[in-house]
Amino acid sequence: MRRAVNSNDIDQLRSLLRDTDALISEPHDESYKESVKRWSAAAEKAAGVAVVPTGASQISTILRYVAANKIDLAVRGGGHSTSGSSSTDGGLLIDLRAIRHVQVDATNISVKVGGGATWADVDLETAKYGFAALGGTISDTGVGGLTLGGGYGWLSGAHGLVIDNLLSATVVLPSGGIVRASENENQNLFWGLRGAGHNFGVVVEFEFKLHPQGNLWTGTLAFPPSPPVVHKLVEAINDLYRPRTPEGRTKYAGRAASVINILRPSDAGGKVALAAAIMFNGTEEEGRQAFKMFYDIGPVMESVRSVPYDIANQTLSAPPGFRVSMKGAAWALPLEIDLLQELIDSYTLFTKAIPDMESSMILLECYDPYVVATGATNSDMSFANRGWHMNASIQPSWTKQEFDTEGRKWARDTTALFDKWFEKTGRPSRAGDYGAVLAYGNYDHYDQKNSGDIFGQNYTRLQELKAKYDPDNMFNKLFAVQRKE
Ligand SMILES: Cc1cc2nc3c(=O)[nH]c(=O)nc-3n(C[C@H](O)[C@H](O)[C@H](O)COP(=O)(O)OP(=O)(O)OC[C@H]3O[C@@H](n4cnc5c(N)ncnc54)[C@H](O)[C@@H]3O)c2cc1C
Repeated sequence: MRRAVNSNDIDQLRSLLRDTDALISEPHDESYKESVKRWSAAAEKAAGVAVVPTGASQISTILRYVAANKIDLAVRGGGHSTSGSSSTDGGLLIDLRAIRHVQVDATNISVKVGGGATWADVDLETAKYGFAALGGTISDTGVGGLTLGGGYGWLSGAHGLVIDNLLSATVVLPSGGIVRASENENQNLFWGLRGAGHNFGVVVEFEFKLHPQGNLWTGTLAFPPSPPVVHKLVEAINDLYRPRTPEGRTKYAGRAASVINILRPSDAGGKVALAAAIMFNGTEEEGRQAFKMFYDIGPVMESVRSVPYDIANQTLSAPPGFRVSMKGAAWALPLEIDLLQELIDSYTLFTKAIPDMESSMILLECYDPYVVATGATNSDMSFANRGWHMNASIQPSWTKQEFDTEGRKWARDTTALFDKWFEKTGRPSRAGDYGAVLAYGNYDHYDQKNSGDIFGQNYTRLQELKAKYDPDNMFNKLFAVQRKE
């Protein structure tokens, strides 16, 4: 059992860090409030003390103290996890917000990024050189959490997962040691960091491959969720994203992606709508051609334009401060009309019954999975969710704590609709399917927490790694790998 911090611990920490610029704050301090704030208010917890370090050696000092005193520890990257995995009740919080440097190496087409940076920090700097890093679709998310759990973004159809673009990571281990992990150094640790990366230490620097990137044509098309629209939208999705070559490539080979949202947009007078956030990596003319079937449905609202990648990554941003709980699910092509209709019905009933839930959403991601599915196997890295399926995310969003249980229950019930559908249709399998676990950990599968469900066949190897690097389970907040009995 790990314990909360007490006033003696805080004095000790102040003394250990006295000659540094690390910021130590307690509940009455302004800095503390910023440290414990999370994108989802439901994920906030009152840490006993918050420390904002500025470098690896300070983190090393902190971790040595945490290890010696068995203190509960949480690490905050971008603060977007909705499961509370970057928060601690009474323990010590390391807030990485001061470690967010971004250094582009234009010769090697790579970038070094501080462990507390957001993707917006990365986009801003890489855009100056005409490059993009493969980050998430919404750039206020943290590089840390998103990368360590795998990472999907607008460019995944072309360049794979974020971890497929990770060249190295510099980690402060629970022992206080500072190591670099890559394909050439500490390879086992590098394997573990790419998927189960929240288990082994604090990553102070990531190094990523970059890609030349021009404007993207992107924005949203909104439709009323009437049966004819549902029918045509399903047809359009299946046409654009179905594999067309024997290897499994889609019509536009990774250049098109969409997120289908079921929501009640504020400008639709509280009515339920279907919104397709669409992206084409190319010109407007090419994009209009690619999404012709979507346009032919007759959107009632359109906001699609040609923008730089950093702007494209801001278009889906959602305001912080709601109580949001994400729960992931998986689906596969062809999308069935019945599944989409069931999801719309479930959403409509739920948000009508509890008006405080009207900012909730269901999101279905669509992309060309070829590069993710075939670029590596499910045992090349600890990430075990490569396959021909797509991710979905159920996001109850509310303001009053009294609805916490209802929100999470609805997310579970809705996930069950996807599971039921897979039972009916069978798991997606084509040549090259390495047996994905069909659960993307970063979408906070809170029911699978602490189990092997997220890491599948990689779990035993992870247990060995955990025993080596974190035998006392200091990093225990997100899919903590359990000791082998
Ligand atoms: C609005 C929104 C949009 C999203 N979009 C996408 C998307 O497009 N693609 C996608 O793949 N996922 C997406 N996600 C999911 C996202 O990957 C996770 O929420 C992820 O945990 C966010 O990372 P963070 O650093 O912001 O979170 P935090 O809450 O800060 O951290 C999450 C976990 O990572 C650990 N962690 C963070 N940084 C470090 C570090 N440097 N070293 C060690 N541990 C660290 C924390 O301790 C914690 O366990 C989205 C989430 C939200 C809320």
